[in-house]
Amino acid sequence: MPDCIFCSIVSGDIPANIVLRTPEVVAFTDLNPQAPTHILVIPTEHHENGAELAKDNPVQAAAVLAATHTVAAEAGLTDYRTVFNTGAEAGQSVFHAHAHVLGGRNLGWPPG
Ligand code: 5GP
Ligand code: ZN
Repeated sequence: MPDCIFCSIVSGDIPANIVLRTPEVVAFTDLNPQAPTHILVIPTEHHENGAELAKDNPVQAAAVLAATHTVAAEAGLTDYRTVFNTGAEAGQSVFHAHAHVLGGRNLGWPPG
């Protein structure tokens, strides 16, 4: 997808601190971390959000979910939060599906 920053990270056109790459997913540290560990896990295909991803490519959706746990474990986390923001009102600012993996501090609930 032209002009999609996360597609550009998948293709390597934009650099990122990549912690995991498979044919299905790429995971990299968030540019503006909200916790000591803040990793984004994205499907290699462009889908607008997690719901579209689950509908159109359930194999990649499952791979994204599994990878959130892989990267959390590799970061040494046993307690962490996995978040999909869906829609601008929920805080989505990049419209390529992604899961946030947040940990390393006490995470409040409910989220803001
Ligand atoms: P959203 O607000 O859409 O749920 O999350 C988008 C996330 O992408 C934000 O946490 C933001 O900091 C991160 N982000 C935006 N642009 C870049 C980038 O170019 N590189 C990296 N590593 N993270 C980015
Ligand atoms: Zn994209």
